[in-house]
Amino acid sequence: MSSSTAITNIATLVTNDPSLGDNSPLGLLQDAAVVIDGDRVVWTGESSKAPATDNRVDAGGRAVLPGFVDSHSHLVFAGDRTQEFNARMSGRAYSAGGIRTTVAATRAATDAELEANLTRYLAEALRQGTTTFETKSGYGLTTEDESRALRIAAGHTDEVTYLGAHIVSPDFADDPAGYVALVTGEMLDACAPYARWIDVFCEQGAFDGDQARAILTAGKARGLHPRIHANQLSYGPGVQLAVELDAASADHCTHLTDADVEALASGGTVATLLPGAEFSTRAEWPSARRLLDAGATVALSTDCNPGSSFTSSVPFCIALAVREMGMTPDEAVWSATAGGARALRRDDVGRLAPGARADLVLLDAPSHVHLAYRPGVPLVAGVWRRGVREV
Ligand SMILES: [Zn+2]
Repeated sequence: MSSSTAITNIATLVTNDPSLGDNSPLGLLQDAAVVIDGDRVVWTGESSKAPATDNRVDAGGRAVLPGFVDSHSHLVFAGDRTQEFNARMSGRAYSAGGIRTTVAATRAATDAELEANLTRYLAEALRQGTTTFETKSGYGLTTEDESRALRIAAGHTDEVTYLGAHIVSPDFADDPAGYVALVTGEMLDACAPYARWIDVFCEQGAFDGDQARAILTAGKARGLHPRIHANQLSYGPGVQLAVELDAASADHCTHLTDADVEALASGGTVATLLPGAEFSTRAEWPSARRLLDAGATVALSTDCNPGSSFTSSVPFCIALAVREMGMTPDEAVWSATAGGARALRRDDVGRLAPGARADLVLLDAPSHVHLAYRPGVPLVAGVWRRGVREV
């Protein structure tokens, strides 16, 4: 038998359901309560009208919002790239090639080492409010190493992405076509059982538009849904391809033409922005404002990986998105919760309405705006995941 809990005396409740609150996209409620029963939300409303429950938690005039949905991370890896980061901050540019360093370390690691590393970063993310996350392979680049990365990831999340096409494997340096054949053939066969998604790094130095199309099309034929690393370091065909193939998400979207923005605004593909990457590579910021003004759906995620964005903190990304990418605090919070859910084509997470999963964050602040207003401050005071208090 499940037990019910009312969290009362919430100064600001973000529901992400306009009809439950003030009709804004965040569906804000003041002086609110939320009731959870088992792993689900069953009621939201005025605190004074909360129904009787088995347990009661007094939020003490603080804010509650949906748990963050981090729809883009790379957490199955070994080693780190401190030296590369240090060199870059001393003036050297970032290119896709640094991935090879992590590939070598990941191949050399045992399953237990990879799992311990993954578990550590997941715990770190949970403490910062992340209750749903996607993660990828991409540091193995052999059939055996890619499939074991996905098998390990699948033990921790349903949102597993096959990224054999992260870069051309160093073993195929002189035969990129041979590597695409592997990624779309034997490697795909071994990886598909563990994955929901297929991804490709469509970029100069990684895979071009034709290769990316072949890879994603092969994945779709095996029942995987596409998502793309697109237009991160340069203009290119990635975003258009994402929309054409009905990818759930085009990720990075830093270098966009007007036609790219238009395609995202009119198609069903979410634009996922990853400001940790621009921060950690001193790169040009994507313009969230331009995408939002055009009518595109924007998600915000960490891109947590040891090379270009070694942060697991969604609150940090919210602060960056507001300060550097033209988002309002409301938009950034929506994008890191409901937006992330859209990028994973989910409607059971990223919102706090009856029937949704009881994934909640309690902030040590009276409103969600403090996530951007107080950058770098550990504001997450409580986290419930599937109705269970974890933090
Ligand atoms: Zn990435």
